[in-house]
Amino acid sequence: MSLSIPENLEKVRQLISLYEVKYGRSDKAVQLIAVSKTHGADKVKIAYQAGQKHFGENYLQEALEKIDALKDLPLHWHFIGPIQSNKTRAIAESFQWVHSVDRLKVAQRLNDQRPSSLPGLNIMLQVNISNEDSKAGISVDELEALANAVESLPNLVLSGLMAIPAASNDANIQRDNFRRLREARDKLLAQGLDQCQHLSMGMSNDFEAAIAEGATMIRIGTDIFGPREARGYSKCVKLPQQ
Ligand SMILES: *Cc1c(COP(=O)(O)O)cnc(C)c1O
Repeated sequence: MSLSIPENLEKVRQLISLYEVKYGRSDKAVQLIAVSKTHGADKVKIAYQAGQKHFGENYLQEALEKIDALKDLPLHWHFIGPIQSNKTRAIAESFQWVHSVDRLKVAQRLNDQRPSSLPGLNIMLQVNISNEDSKAGISVDELEALANAVESLPNLVLSGLMAIPAASNDANIQRDNFRRLREARDKLLAQGLDQCQHLSMGMSNDFEAAIAEGATMIRIGTDIFGPREARGYSKCVKLPQQ
């Protein structure tokens, strides 16, 4: 019943093309980011061999191991998880994209710690678009100030906005949320932040709505790699009594 990673990738790619046509988006307007969190480097390599180059990771330690194991492949790594400010150095050194920046302190640290031998680090600001209790993401009201501050940091490139709206199976609600992110992006573009082009929005359950509303990057895990095991389980059972 379950398909292989290459078959899943092909299916997702076909859907992306279908939705690009259906919603009047240009061909290849939407970039697929394969979210490989909790899945090993072996699976990332299988996806790479099936033509996938962009990968998203949430958990730093796990990500660094995969990045190192696969360093000979021309992969693009996107950090999409919550950022603790004491972890910014490794993110600045090892990733090309960071989608989950929602406060200035983190942006400043990423800027200061980005090695000068590397090109500017691409930053997407995470916006709390459905005003959830969830702490992640800056409010739309505070976005403009943060965007301007990030724009002024020389080792960062303010490349767009990201959101993880409250889960909903209602396509209209999904689209309302994604539309709000697009409108926030358009406002920043109109103010002259002209590299702030990308919209990182849409996951396995809602990427059709995201593409309809202008997503330029969708972040897909389950539909490519299959279901994830509950994280931390193996760590729990191994915990020594100390
Ligand atoms: C896990 C995760 C995804 C992928 O979610 P799926 O539902 O498995 O496609 C996308 N974005 C973020 C920020 C995630 O944490």
